Amino acid sequence: MKFKAFHKLSYGLYIIATELYGKKFGYIGNTAFQVTSTPSQIIISSHKNNFTTSKILESKKFSISVLQKEVNTALIGVFGFMSGADIDKFNNIETTASVTGAPIITDSCVAWFDCRVVNSFDVGSHILILGEVIESDVISGEEPLTYDYYREKYKMLAPKNAPTYVDKTRLESETVPEPVVKTETEVKPEPEKASEDLSSYTCKICGFQYNPEEGDPALGIPPGTPFADLPDDYRCPICNAGKEYFGKND
Ligand code: FE
Repeated sequence: MKFKAFHKLSYGLYIIATELYGKKFGYIGNTAFQVTSTPSQIIISSHKNNFTTSKILESKKFSISVLQKEVNTALIGVFGFMSGADIDKFNNIETTASVTGAPIITDSCVAWFDCRVVNSFDVGSHILILGEVIESDVISGEEPLTYDYYREKYKMLAPKNAPTYVDKTRLESETVPEPVVKTETEVKPEPEKASEDLSSYTCKICGFQYNPEEGDPALGIPPGTPFADLPDDYRCPICNAGKEYFGKND
C-alpha cells in the first residue's frame, strides 16, 4: 500500500470550533464533508485525544469555518499545533456566532456552517461526528484553501491527530511519479546574490520550511532574504517558535 495515494484525495482545511459553558474550543481539520442534502448534514472526523472533541460531544454543536487560500498562517499555528488544554486559542481571534452559539472565525475564512450534533460514531482513533447544518453563509469571494496547496506551500505534514497523518519516514521511502509541472509561462528566477547563503531552514517544532527564495511577503520579508538576515524577533508563521528552533536543511 502506498500512503502517498492518500495525498491524491482532495480536501480543504477548516477550523472546527465549539463553545461550552462560555469557553471556546477549536482545531484545524481537513475532514469535513457533506453526507446528505435534505436535511443538509456534514460529518467531521475528530481525534479522541483532541481537546475539542469531547467539548463538541458535550455541547452538541460545532461550527466549520472554511479557510481561504492565502490564509493568515498564525491561525494554522494556533489552531493546528497547540492544544486548548494549554492556551486559550481564541485570545485575539475575532469571532461571530449564529444559531447554536458555536464560534465562527471571520479572519481568513470564506464561508461557515453552524451545526447541531445529531449522531456520533466511534471509529477507533477518531470519532465521526454527524451534524445537521442549521445555518451557513459565504463571507468572502477569496478562493478556499486546499490541503494539497497547504502541503505544497508550507512543505508540512499532517499533525499526529489528523486522520490523514502518516509517518514522515514512511512517506519518504515511497517512490511515485513526479508532479507534472506546466511551463506555459516561463517564471524568471530572482537574480541570485552570490555571496549569501540561500539555504532553507526548517522549524523543528512544526516542520514549517523557510525558503529564502520565497521570503515571507505577508510579514514584509521580500524574496531573496537569507535566513541569517531575518530579524531577531522572527517567528515561525505556523507555530510561533523563535529563530533558535530552526535548523538548516542539507
Ligand atoms: Fe513552527
